[in-house]
Formats: sequence, C-alpha cells, structure tokens
Amino acid sequence: MKIPESQKKWSNYEFGGPIGTTFWTVLLPAVVYYMFFCVRFNGGALLPRETINLAPFTSFWDSITPTWEAALIYAVWIVFQGLMQAFIPGKKVMGRPVTDGSRLQYKMNGVVSFIITFVVLGIAVWMGWIKFDLIYNNFGALISVVLIFSYLFSLFLYFYGYKTKQVDRVTGNFIHDFWMGVSLNPRIPPITGFDLKFFCEARPGLIGWVVINFSLMGVQYMRHGFVTLPMILVCAFHFIYIADYFWNELAILTTTDIMHDKFGFMLVFGDLVWVPFTYVIQAMYLLEHTHTLPIWGAALIIILNFLGYCIFRMVNIQKHNFRTNPDKPIWGKKAEYIKTKQGNLLLVSGFWGWSRHFNFLGDILMALAWCLPCLFDSIVPYFYVIYFVLLLIHRERRDNKRCAIKYGENWDRYTERVPWRIIPKIY
Ligand code: NDP
Repeated sequence: MKIPESQKKWSNYEFGGPIGTTFWTVLLPAVVYYMFFCVRFNGGALLPRETINLAPFTSFWDSITPTWEAALIYAVWIVFQGLMQAFIPGKKVMGRPVTDGSRLQYKMNGVVSFIITFVVLGIAVWMGWIKFDLIYNNFGALISVVLIFSYLFSLFLYFYGYKTKQVDRVTGNFIHDFWMGVSLNPRIPPITGFDLKFFCEARPGLIGWVVINFSLMGVQYMRHGFVTLPMILVCAFHFIYIADYFWNELAILTTTDIMHDKFGFMLVFGDLVWVPFTYVIQAMYLLEHTHTLPIWGAALIIILNFLGYCIFRMVNIQKHNFRTNPDKPIWGKKAEYIKTKQGNLLLVSGFWGWSRHFNFLGDILMALAWCLPCLFDSIVPYFYVIYFVLLLIHRERRDNKRCAIKYGENWDRYTERVPWRIIPKIY
C-alpha cells in the first residue's frame, strides 16, 4: 500500500517494530489462555502440577474450542452494547483537538448504558432466562471467539482506514500498522458516525469485566450457598472503579487512548479480550478458593483501595478540569503552567507539580488492593498488579517520548520543573 509522504512523518517504530509487534500479537493472547489454564485447570498454580497427568490440558483444550453458543452470546452482547451507544440519548460534547487540529463530537450516554445493562441482566436472571453460570461454562470458548473477532475486526479497521482515508501516522509496515492501527478515531461513516474506538474502549470490555465478575459471584453462590468476603470485596472494588469511569465519562476524552493512540490490534485486543478475560482473574480464583478474611484485614484492604481511588480520581480530574478551564484555581491558588508552542498548557500546580503521572500511583495502589483478598497461596491472582506496574512504567516512558517530540524545549522545561515520573523523590 503506497503511503503519502505527508503521512510518513511519524514513521518511528514502536513496541519493537515489526518483530516486536509480531511477538506481542501472538504472546498476549497466549498469556490470556495461560492465566485461564492456571486458575481454572491448575488449581491456581503457575506451573503444571502433575507433569504426567494430561487431563487438565485435555479439559483446557476442549474448553477453549470456539462454539456457536459462545459466538451467539458474544454477538448478542456486542450488538446490545452497540445499540445502546448509538440510540440512547446523551449530552453531546466536543473532544480535544486531534493530530490535524480538528475536534470530534461525542455522545455521553455511558452511565445510562451501564445501568440498563444491569437492569436487563438482573431481570433475565430473575426470570430464569439465563443462569449465573452461562459465562463460566462458556468462558474458554468465549475467549477464543472474542480473540478471533478481534483479529478480524483489526484487519477490517486496517483496510477501512485506507478506504475511507482516515489514516494517521503510519509506517507502511503491515504488521506494525496492524498492531498500532492506521486511524486515530475510525467512525462509520467517517467524522459524524459511530465511533468504534470510543465504543470499544468503554462498553463491551469494561462493562463485560464487571458483568463477568458478578456472574462468578453468582456461581459461587450456586455452588456453596454463600458468597465469601474476598469475593464481595473484589467485585465491589471493580464495580466502583467502572461506575466511577462512567460517572466521569467526559474525562475519557483527555486520556492517551482517545487522544493519541490509534485504533489497531493493540487497543482492540486490550479492550475486548485482555480487560474482560484477565481482569476477572481474582474473582475466578476466589470462586475456586473459598477462604475468608479477618475483619481487620478486610478493613486495611478497603483503606488501601480508597486511598488509591482518591489519588487516581483527584489527579485525573485535576488535569481534566485544568484543560477544560485553565483559569479555575487549584488548591485555592491560580494554576501555574507552561505554555507550549502548540497552544497546549502543561500544568505544574497541584498534583501535576508533584510528579508527571501521580495518577498512576493511585492505579497501582488500587491494583494491589484488588489482589490482596486472594491472600498468598498463589502468585497467579497477583498477575494484575504485576502486569499493571509494567504497563504503567512503559506507558509513562512512551508518553514522555511522545511529549518530548511534540513539545520540544517546553517539555524539557516541564521535566526540569517536575523531575519525578510517578512517585515523588522515588521514581
Ligand atoms: P495521563 O492521564 O497521565 O495523560 C497523559 C497526557 O496528558 C499526555 O500525553 C499529555 O497529552 C497530557 N499531559 C501530560 N502532562 C500534563 C500536564 N502537566 N498538564 C496537562 N496535560 C498534561 O495518562 P493516561 O491517559 O495514559 O491515563 C489516564 C488514567 O487511566 C490513568 O489514571 C491511568 O492509570 C488509567 N489507565 C488505566 C488502565 C487500566 O487498564 N485500568 C489502562 C491505561 C490507563 P497532550 O498531548 O494533550 O499534552
């Protein structure tokens, strides 16, 4: 495919170029399957426990074979979420300027979609149309179905981007551009239509994550006639995180994913497969391990989650409010900032003067609080916090590099003024 010279200016490879992106395209799906194997078929252990016993592998293999039932469940789910995004009324807002300076309009109807999802599913369970174990019984097949869908959808996005001339910062290398995406905000039809990235970022995966959690809690109840305290904590923490996400839906528009990252396999897979099928690993683990927690332990975990949540929410909203209205005082004083040549303002007051991504610390504390209810018999449920620390370190470095290229000497001034990356005086 011939790339116009004007579009080649962002030709730097990311994620290790063609070899690295090929590697990630194969490795990450394998990790999702492996986590599922460990927690469901291997007693929560990381390594196979009985080398001569092939039964767990056979059961695992059978369970991940795609089925029509799983395909139907996912089709109903994604169409249901899509219809809600498209047709439920919501406040119309303009997004931040994108690469070419233009701004797109978004409809904010996430909260209503989130509530309707739970009402509809609640009625369906109450009426006996579906059972809590529907997802549990189809979990492996669902991973495969959604993974196949993600590969095909990303291929579609690649060609659709070129066909409709929604092409941004491509390199011309197929596998790299397939991974990174070719369009920043692909819409059907372009500009005014259904926003595919905004949809996938929030609806099927994030709502799906919480729905799967609650279904696993339901399965625990079906099996034992009770629900454990650790299960309640994990499901409640995740629910609060996602409810908050939709409550502050406007803030999504100033995240890196919406403003900078194009919509390719990396985000498609992350949104549709990685988030709903690996972020539920603690609930999946707790379904098989029905221990409880002392009250003091639960209280400490709740405090840790609350602390992380407060940091995460206050820091993110401070930047969002500042970018929306720079004249608004921060902590009772006029906001200080560095003005860039592009016109964007870099806040150096408040949390954004403490470190360049203090919000990430909040995420890390919350991630730890989500794993601790699983106690310490296995490292597998801690997969989330380990992966998340690595993700955020990598994300910060990527963002730093991107902003250094974008803002040049103004970014240097900013990093001199705010030298710490995430944790003040430590990192
Ligand atoms: P940030 O919210 O830190 O946003 C970074 C962007 O903000 C930069 O690219 C830059 O964009 C702008 N910016 C940077 N410094 C300043 C400043 N001083 N003043 C004003 N604007 C600035 O990162 P993310 O969008 O990556 O993350 C948002 C939240 O989502 C975080 O809390 C993160 O942890 C969370 N998250 C959660 C994930 C999960 O799976 N649970 C995954 C990813 C993120 P510009 O070019 O506009 O200047």
